[in-house]
Amino acid sequence: MIPALFEYERADSADHALQLLQQFGDEAKILAGGHSLLPLMKLRLAQPSALIDVARIAELSYVRDDGDVIAIGALTPYEDVHFNDLVKEHCGIVAHTSGEVGDPQVRHRGTIGGSVAHGDPASDIPSVMVALDAEFVVHSASGDRTVKATEFFKSVFEVDLGPQELLTELRVPKLNGAGWSYQKFQHRAQDWATVGVAAVARGDGRAAIGLTSMGETPLRATAVEEALASGTNVADASQQAAEGTSPVSDPLGSAEYRREMAKVFVRRALEEALSR
Ligand SMILES: Cc1cc2nc3c(=O)[nH]c(=O)nc-3n(C[C@H](O)[C@H](O)[C@H](O)COP(=O)(O)OP(=O)(O)OC[C@H]3O[C@@H](n4cnc5c(N)ncnc54)[C@H](O)[C@@H]3O)c2cc1C
Repeated sequence: MIPALFEYERADSADHALQLLQQFGDEAKILAGGHSLLPLMKLRLAQPSALIDVARIAELSYVRDDGDVIAIGALTPYEDVHFNDLVKEHCGIVAHTSGEVGDPQVRHRGTIGGSVAHGDPASDIPSVMVALDAEFVVHSASGDRTVKATEFFKSVFEVDLGPQELLTELRVPKLNGAGWSYQKFQHRAQDWATVGVAAVARGDGRAAIGLTSMGETPLRATAVEEALASGTNVADASQQAAEGTSPVSDPLGSAEYRREMAKVFVRRALEEALSR
């Protein structure tokens, strides 16, 4: 339970963080809220040579109205996202789901960008970002690039983020009246999701659906989306929720159990999203 030795530096700005990453090399890691990285280090599943602490960079903790999107700084804690009026008004599913993550301690320290950068398929926010077709801004010495959420997550704990890059912003399309729902199936309050479902219904009976804990990355339930688009009713379309998924078996539930639960929770999420 004691991490291996590491260097520690605190960054004052995004560019300072990049300088420090360059100085310490590819074995260094960004430290945001530390709620995912530090447990891994204590188990020695991660042994970075240096931690670049970005938690106090105020310029990366914000929520802004940017026309068609709400821009959320990567270092914004869940708690701030959960209670932010702009997020509540324009991206209710993001405000709601931020309040469903862990416990108050996790939500005060954990950052929304850390959740995305960590690439854990059991995390709640990534599947919401995938369902919303959000985009992420990645900052490096060569400038900024923007990556679609649907292309960002590569595998378990593997995302489109190089060792010399910093995630700086999440760009979340406004719902503009679309119905939404995040259904989290958990054994106890404040647990991780055994299965999570994000549904966004933008009219015509169509919906975008993101799945948590149903594969190596957050997934879109494309078979259900296509069935809805071709006029299939919600109950029948939901039966296809497990198509194309590859959930793990772990102490929270077997793969088979997760597949069955996905059908139930997709139906519930769609019913709620379509009735809002
Ligand atoms: C008790 C407990 C319960 C939890 N329950 C839930 C839950 O129910 N649902 C859920 O979704 N999550 C849950 N979590 C996980 C929590 O949400 C994550 O720890 C958090 O989102 C990660 O953010 P962080 O700021 O703590 O990241 P860190 O732990 O600091 O970093 C995580 C990883 O992302 C990288 N990183 C972080 N920020 C950036 C950045 N801006 N640019 C580049 N790389 C970056 C780090 O280098 C590291 O590899 C739980 C955690 C704990 C400890």
